[in-house]
Amino acid sequence: MINAGKLRNQIAIVTGASSGIGAGIAKALAKDAATVVINYSSSEDKAKRILAEIENIGGSGFVCKADVSKEEDVKRMFNETIDRYGTIDILINNAGLQNDASFHEMTLDQWNHVIDINLTGQFLCAREAIKEFLRRGVDPSRSKSAGKIICISSVHEVIPWAGHANYAASKGGVMMMMKTIAQEYASQKIRINSIGPGAIRTPINHAAWQKPAAYKNLLKLIPQKRIGEAEDIGGAAVWLASDDSEYVTGITLFVDGGMLLYPGFEDNG
Ligand code: BGC
Repeated sequence: MINAGKLRNQIAIVTGASSGIGAGIAKALAKDAATVVINYSSSEDKAKRILAEIENIGGSGFVCKADVSKEEDVKRMFNETIDRYGTIDILINNAGLQNDASFHEMTLDQWNHVIDINLTGQFLCAREAIKEFLRRGVDPSRSKSAGKIICISSVHEVIPWAGHANYAASKGGVMMMMKTIAQEYASQKIRINSIGPGAIRTPINHAAWQKPAAYKNLLKLIPQKRIGEAEDIGGAAVWLASDDSEYVTGITLFVDGGMLLYPGFEDNG
């Protein structure tokens, strides 16, 4: 059921919300009373299921097909949202994918595909959101901020990752885009932050947790000795989207069970 509602009266777009971390965040925002636009690129049925779950707890929103790497799709998604609800308050820049290969075997298509969705997609969505935040400015009945953007990055914005150069480069790019635009728009009361998830149990990394041997190996990288769940990210997203974090901008909040703590040093060095 919807709780006290830190995000009451606010409209959120969550990209890539039909599964994984995006779905978890969409549900968490709805629980705190935000109206949620559930963006998807191909899985309409899954997106509708997330919407149904949200409606079941008394929340609202709609599903919206858009490829975040296509300028016209992104513009249409923002226009449709603003036509329906008048404005937007929160963008969760989540849509992302992996397309792994050894670097010397990586095709240009593999490189471009990951950069297009993970980095250019975040640029296109953030740009539309900021235009709307600047147009509306602060409305105290909604939030102390004119708007909030949360970029879903990764521990791999700082941890190099062999075999995933396109992915790690895209997340490093997200980090600098996020910090730069946080600096650029802070005086207009627009807050931009990232969440850097570690290993979260989602389809993107099923090979790392589905089989017991792989999972055991994964846990060597996680001091808390458990994989993260989408709800772990949902809670962080609600905090960054709400006025509770009003003085926070330009950070990456790592939600990783300690993955960034050099776990190899636990019994070594
Ligand atoms: C990747 C996952 C990986 C995790 C930790 C994420 O950004 O998408 O596949 O398990 O980082 O390495």
